Amino acid sequence: MTHLAADDRYDRMPYERSGRSGLLLPRISLGLWNNFGSDRPRQTQREILLRAFDLGVTHIDLANNYGPDGGDAERTFGAVLASDLRPYRDELVVSTKAGYRMWPGPYGEWGSRKGMLASLDQSLGRMGLDYVDIFYSHRPDPSTPIEETMGALASAVRAGKALYAGVSNYDPEQTRAAAAALAADGVPLLIHQPRYNMFDREIERGLLPVLAQVGAGAIVYSPLAQGLLTDRYLAGVPSDSRAAIGRWMTERNISPEYLETARALNEIARGRGQTLAQLALTWVLRHPEVTSALIGASSVAQLEDNLRAATAAPLTADELAAIEPLARE
Ligand code: NDP
Repeated sequence: MTHLAADDRYDRMPYERSGRSGLLLPRISLGLWNNFGSDRPRQTQREILLRAFDLGVTHIDLANNYGPDGGDAERTFGAVLASDLRPYRDELVVSTKAGYRMWPGPYGEWGSRKGMLASLDQSLGRMGLDYVDIFYSHRPDPSTPIEETMGALASAVRAGKALYAGVSNYDPEQTRAAAAALAADGVPLLIHQPRYNMFDREIERGLLPVLAQVGAGAIVYSPLAQGLLTDRYLAGVPSDSRAAIGRWMTERNISPEYLETARALNEIARGRGQTLAQLALTWVLRHPEVTSALIGASSVAQLEDNLRAATAAPLTADELAAIEPLARE
């Protein structure tokens, strides 16, 4: 049955323009890398997606390989779109990506025109969409001319299969080259998707000013360091957590040093009436170049906890100074 969306869905979430574009994105967006495969209950996935939409999360981020089994998350999203969200397509910004291994042979990964455009067609088919809002190069390809990879994104835009172009995991120089190649094709670089959190501050060392120069926004992924910057592990490793399941992190990540840092950050969060997850999100959103924080959630409760950060008061100078020695890689 079609979802009857909440009337007040736009009352709480702030929106920011991505770089110098006209596209407004929610300060917090939802990504489907994990928790949206066929190994998880469809009902929970549907509840998370619909609750996100009702709380103003207009942007859902996917990639060809998310699930974590390839194609799974796009199929899940396509099913919920078909059953519940189809009438709201124009209220949604849906992204997908190509670049990581998706099918066998020489064209199933990286950044050739052949692989990129075939992948986009597959993604559209899995989601039941005519177009995505943003199509990304998921990672730079050292063996393909940047003009070819960006040319594929520009072709997708010209063909109406994508509205905007983005890059992910590109370093500052690669980002400059990507923006220039796209510009030569008459398509602006809308957005960059890098990892950024208190335990990975790489983008502070050069990418942010490049994004400001080329006029692209940033949507930062894993802002909660996959759950490490939440209270998930403060009282042990829950059996359903990412560290226990161990595909992307393991119980070894929950070291005594980590716990000491997380507890200290948790105290700072409490001191300002936030959860640790909310503090971590407020912290990544402090840069003007950061348009949106791209979270994951395995429950509606996690989603709701995180979304409260979208309207939190900015960090004071004293709070930032207290976080600084703890926010280390
Ligand atoms: P996060 O850092 O937000 O981690 C999400 C995980 O943290 C959840 O699955 C959950 O873990 C835990 N969590 C979230 N909120 C809470 C909370 N309030 N309290 C307790 N635990 C919480 O992001 P992800 O690493 O999942 O990445 C987010 C998105 O970024 C992806 O879905 C994808 O769209 C994008 N991404 C892009 C990449 C790229 O190369 N472009 C790479 C990686 C991600 P648990 O499952 O244990 O409950």
